[in-house]
Amino acid sequence: MGPEYFKILKNKVFDKSKWMQLPRDVVIGHDALDQIPRVLEDLALGDSVLLLSGPKTSAVVGSRVASLLEDLFDLTFYISDSITPESICSVEEVGSDADVIIAVGGGRVIDTAKIASFNLDCQFISVPTAASHDGIASSRASVPTDEGSSSLDAHPPVAVVADTGIIAGAPHRLLASGCADIISNYTAILDWELAHRLRGEVISEYAVALSRMTAEILVKDAHLIRPNSEESAWTVTKALVSSGVAMSIAGSSRPASGGEHKFGHALERLAPGKVLHGEACGIGTIISMYLHGGDWQGIRNSLKTIGAPTTPADVGLSDQLVAEALVRAKEIRPERFTIFDMGITAESATKLVRMLYQE
Ligand SMILES: [Zn+2]
Repeated sequence: MGPEYFKILKNKVFDKSKWMQLPRDVVIGHDALDQIPRVLEDLALGDSVLLLSGPKTSAVVGSRVASLLEDLFDLTFYISDSITPESICSVEEVGSDADVIIAVGGGRVIDTAKIASFNLDCQFISVPTAASHDGIASSRASVPTDEGSSSLDAHPPVAVVADTGIIAGAPHRLLASGCADIISNYTAILDWELAHRLRGEVISEYAVALSRMTAEILVKDAHLIRPNSEESAWTVTKALVSSGVAMSIAGSSRPASGGEHKFGHALERLAPGKVLHGEACGIGTIISMYLHGGDWQGIRNSLKTIGAPTTPADVGLSDQLVAEALVRAKEIRPERFTIFDMGITAESATKLVRMLYQE
């Protein structure tokens, strides 16, 4: 076979090219924390490690990781107590020579590491201490701003190490919120398909299939999601990683974030600190599924079974506030077209809320 066997076709019609960034090592399970030195050895990213943790998680989990690494690596242990542009800058200063950042904690710590490592052009490893949202394995980071929160492009973690013993020990409210974030994939997909049909938005069938399957598996196993159970932590964490992979395949958060997320962000803005991200999106998923003409009662029952809130009253909010969030959802990420962008008025939102919560 001669060199003529290989020829490069310069096709004028097919000019697509795409990057997909995915985690390289994913370790989930009992005592997974002990695997961190092996993961670092496997990835061979370098000796200089910045270990980032939060004020609550540093004493127990952060210090345990530090003791595993301090004799093997050039380790800096830093505690970040908030996520603001200033706190991210501080992390970037401390980590300016780091080969890798290990983020041990909740959403704030992981998002800080995601942004700082992106800006520093180094890798980061996600070590979640709770399974409360799908940001643990995704490339999007959210930073609180005066107007609520804004979502930034970053890169996905090079590895995820999720210790089911630690995640199962976190408050059940966090795990239930993570489940709701996964269940929201159902309506995120319906919105993506709608935008595809109505506006010609590019859709990825692989990302759609993975995202939908992840939500279906979780709903099928909803009755198995229990407090203080490592098996439940295992099920939910796998689903969160799988959702993150769907987003990596899509190259955007589309497979896991539709109108229910726009509503969720609007609700978080109207009632800061009252409702967790996944909880707000779960309530939005029920409403979105109703608007799409799907099985909204089924979504509501799964959320109830898991122990996630399904009504405004469950999270101490009024029906009127939810109606307002419905009207304002279209102001969030206006470029992302969803069923919430199809003409909800103050009047229709009030009627909808009355119908959904009167039972
Ligand atoms: Zn989410």
